[in-house]
Amino acid sequence: MITRADVDALSRLGSDQWPIVSLILRVDKERIDDDYTIRLKNLLREAADTLDDRFNPQQRKAVLEDLERIREFFRDEGDRFGRGVAVFAASQAGIWQVHELPRDVESQIAIGFEAHVAPLIKILEQLEPFVTCLIARDSARLFYGRLGKFEELQQIVDEEVPGQHDQGGWSQARYERHIDEHARAHFKRVADELFHIFEEQPYRWLILGGPDEVVAAFLEQLHPYVRERHAGTVRVLMEANINEVHEESCEIIRRWILDEKLRAIEMLRNEVLSGDRGVAGLEPTLMALQQGQILTLLVDDSYQAPGAVCLNCRSVQREGGTGQQCVFCGGPLQALDNVVPEIVTGAFRQGANLLFLTQPETQEPMRDLGRIGALLRFSLTSQSEG
Ligand SMILES: [Zn+2]
Repeated sequence: MITRADVDALSRLGSDQWPIVSLILRVDKERIDDDYTIRLKNLLREAADTLDDRFNPQQRKAVLEDLERIREFFRDEGDRFGRGVAVFAASQAGIWQVHELPRDVESQIAIGFEAHVAPLIKILEQLEPFVTCLIARDSARLFYGRLGKFEELQQIVDEEVPGQHDQGGWSQARYERHIDEHARAHFKRVADELFHIFEEQPYRWLILGGPDEVVAAFLEQLHPYVRERHAGTVRVLMEANINEVHEESCEIIRRWILDEKLRAIEMLRNEVLSGDRGVAGLEPTLMALQQGQILTLLVDDSYQAPGAVCLNCRSVQREGGTGQQCVFCGGPLQALDNVVPEIVTGAFRQGANLLFLTQPETQEPMRDLGRIGALLRFSLTSQSEG
């Protein structure tokens, strides 16, 4: 499965000389009424038909050869994919990359001198890993997963913790102390394991499951790096099946992501009102992008805006009529029906946090903020003063 590091490397992939074919294909074999080979055929034809005068005859020939190579690749190997696939091809420049994607991708093809990565940036939130830990006083189950994929790592049973009925001749107080010591040792062991997993395969969120008092005691034993990832607690039994654990965990993650977006919109609104560290609307966002200022980009997922991109310095601009030049470097501009993918990619390259507003409850409060905006790295006022 593709990772954030892969997308990061792809966002820097480019060739001055040879166009790159960027294909994203949903390969959903569970739906027999939905044949991916037909979708692929249509995309390849569409790409061949739209090769325009951006490219010289050698470049057009190279693209047609890559389209054929992609066709053969899926003919021979397409059936080994089960969800989504991304292919980036510019054979003349030595570029040929295939990445597996989650299921929820929109099939599309693009040809340009850079890899078209905006659709991959959009699915990054589905790729963020999390760990779910079901915890009891003498056992634990650990799971590692993403919104689209989940597996059980291990079960930990520390049987030296006596059960409630094994009290024997102990006094109640002594028995409880004994239980507590064993439970604490067990919590410590599980906490160490969670930290070990974090070091091996860092995860963004930790979800716990168990009785409130157990979860509270366990949280105290966690390493601070692990504890700060705690995103919520699920209500499932220790014996729950993995699908139930996954579903409940995803619910918590989705809620967490939604809250993060709502918080960011409120922060943006405050920053825009105080004129300090936030900009709203297309033009100010483009300016912030140009200045390398974007800390967090917020964009309504359905928002589109025409504009242009400079073929020389890559800057994104509002206007792009024929014959116009880049306002920054005087280079040639390419007009685009929609520059939002370029803004997204540019912000991603700056290391910005990207928040795509996909639900009405996040799109609605962004409406009067121009549907696109950014929290900034530096305050606007301190910049104009100094
Ligand atoms: Zn330029």
